Amino acid sequence: MMPEMQVLFAASEVYPFSKSGGLADVAHALPRALVPAVGMTVVTPYYSFIDKEKFEIKPTGDCFTVRFGNKDFEVNILGCDYEGIPYLFVESELLSKRSYMYGPPDSGYEDNALRFALFSHAIMKLIDLKKYDLVHLNDWQCGLVAFMIHQQGLTSIKTVFTIHNLAYQGLFEPSVLEELDIDETCFTMEGIEFYNQVSFMKGGIAYADRVTTVSPHYAMETMTERFGCGLEGFLRHHADKYSGIVNGIDYAHFSPSNDAHLVHTYSDLKGKLPNKQAFLEELRLTSDSDRPLFVFIGRFTWQKGVDLLIEALDRIAALGCDVAILGEGETKYHEAMSKAAAEYENIHLHYGYSETLSHRMYAAADFLLMPSLFEPCGLNQMIAMRYGAIPVVHDVGGLHDTVHSVEEFDDSAAKGFGIRFAQPTAVSMLEAFEDALNLYEEKYRYSAVVRHNMTCDFSWQESAGHYRQLYHELLESEG
Ligand code: ADP
Repeated sequence: MMPEMQVLFAASEVYPFSKSGGLADVAHALPRALVPAVGMTVVTPYYSFIDKEKFEIKPTGDCFTVRFGNKDFEVNILGCDYEGIPYLFVESELLSKRSYMYGPPDSGYEDNALRFALFSHAIMKLIDLKKYDLVHLNDWQCGLVAFMIHQQGLTSIKTVFTIHNLAYQGLFEPSVLEELDIDETCFTMEGIEFYNQVSFMKGGIAYADRVTTVSPHYAMETMTERFGCGLEGFLRHHADKYSGIVNGIDYAHFSPSNDAHLVHTYSDLKGKLPNKQAFLEELRLTSDSDRPLFVFIGRFTWQKGVDLLIEALDRIAALGCDVAILGEGETKYHEAMSKAAAEYENIHLHYGYSETLSHRMYAAADFLLMPSLFEPCGLNQMIAMRYGAIPVVHDVGGLHDTVHSVEEFDDSAAKGFGIRFAQPTAVSMLEAFEDALNLYEEKYRYSAVVRHNMTCDFSWQESAGHYRQLYHELLESEG
């Protein structure tokens, strides 16, 4: 089958090579959901922690020099095929020789403007060498590509820019304009200026042919003051090219019936129980498996509602449930959680990043807690529903689109159900906790919701279709 078009998909992180969050999962799964109809090549930075041998990453033979700000940067394009997708890695000392992708926890590298401008220049060179029909750019790290394509008047190549999280905008001092050879005439409100800083995110929004974000509700929210991070007016200005497409989860990776991370694979609610027992034993939690188990999995940042969780932990500990927390991030959150875990026998903390443990936790959990203050899409809640854990979520962003209130439970509806709370407060979250405990007591209803959620379709299929349609619309459009 001849692909309908050739797309270069650019992202600063791609699972399984590099990952800090959901972007890496999307960059892994979406291209796989689009092939073979659409020809997909993924381009990403090479970081020195990526294992070349394991993934058989080799030089492609494409080497070139990128020049900007009166400096030359040597670039080496590496490549590999992984699960049927060709990957290109941009290797260059400035971009690659780092222990972290963006910087140590709590801060970004000072030269990130240069590093990701270099990545963008390398993408431009690849576009020139390989003749793609469309480039799909993701987040601020790729925003300059849309800007460069516009500057160079390359109207034959279409651009889609996807915002995975508006809170990270790639803002830099105006002095980088000179270092990056960016013409000052673009440093305006309509262009890449944001309160006297250079915004890579605005480069993507202003100049891409279409802008998307990862759920329809978040698209709407980002055009309001509460969620727009200062860009609400700018997004409203570009509303006619802006829309939301909800993420999916990768069924090859997240299917309880053949998940290699699990002690007991399962395909129904009954089969889930041994996983809970195994997990409780693993944690040496003495409690019996009749007690509801809540899990929290995610980055310890303000965004994830960690403050609400910490504020409520004393009260939660007094309820008849177990809570298991997996995550890493800011020190102040780590300390507060460690304190609670040391104090209460039913609160367990695993600080760190572990794929295996996260899968085991989804399989063991009765409920997944997601009190995010804002959530562009969120993957955890969909994984949880697929693994038979009911999500308890703050009713925002993609959580609003993917978790429907159990109060309206209807087992003939093709959507998942959970418990939602409206206010970003510990009080509102605790009320949701109580609702969850009550639901757990109503065994029949609880089981019906879990069973229903486990059969819902959270795969990429439908959303990949929306992206494919969008690509076609662009290629068929004039100009
Ligand atoms: P974000 O991109 O904001 O971090 P998402 O919900 O979009 O959040 O994606 C988070 C992904 O990362 C999910 O696949 C989740 O299971 C995983 N994850 C987050 N923290 C950890 C962790 N500490 N260990 C293992 N997996 C994690």
